[in-house]
Amino acid sequence: VHERPVEDLIDEFQRLPGVGRKTAERYVFLLLSADETDVRRFAEAMLHMKERIGFCSRCHNIAEGELCRVCANPQRDAGVICVVETPRDVASLERTQQFRGLYHVLGGALSPIDGITPERLTIASLVDRVRSEDVREVILCTNQTVDGDATASYLARELAAVAEAGTDGPTITRIASGLPVGSDLDFADDATLTRALAGRRSI
Ligand SMILES: [Zn+2]
Repeated sequence: VHERPVEDLIDEFQRLPGVGRKTAERYVFLLLSADETDVRRFAEAMLHMKERIGFCSRCHNIAEGELCRVCANPQRDAGVICVVETPRDVASLERTQQFRGLYHVLGGALSPIDGITPERLTIASLVDRVRSEDVREVILCTNQTVDGDATASYLARELAAVAEAGTDGPTITRIASGLPVGSDLDFADDATLTRALAGRRSI
């Protein structure tokens, strides 16, 4: 329908969640009418983000440099680790400003059907942290979905085994249900997330 470069960019925008053809077209025509300086800044911001953001060597959250902002903050309580599936979950929990501990980002949830085995996630690194750091509590904050629940059960068993092998193991807790069933953490509003975290129980 349009010139090739216009169509190409419409295709790219349509890859974003929630962006249909009409919206994509609107974005492209907006950029067409914008100053070249503004368009360049927009394109460069995307590239810089990809070039400069990597993963935290401690918790696997997104990081600019060796450690993420949470791990690099000496005010955070290193004795509590909140285990989540993705960096977006970290962002959701940080927005509530209720959690003062550290995180561990798994990189997804166990899913045998999709071939997501324990080796594909950062589980070994979590076990290492629990072994070597002074951890009082591990909060299993994976999504309340079939895969998220199965992942939490798996981790609870793995971490209990670490505790038995060592001396004082950490308390293992699971966030309270109350999030919409089958939903991802990032769909929950701040109040619901805060309640789920406060209502966590030992498992
Ligand atoms: Zn980190």
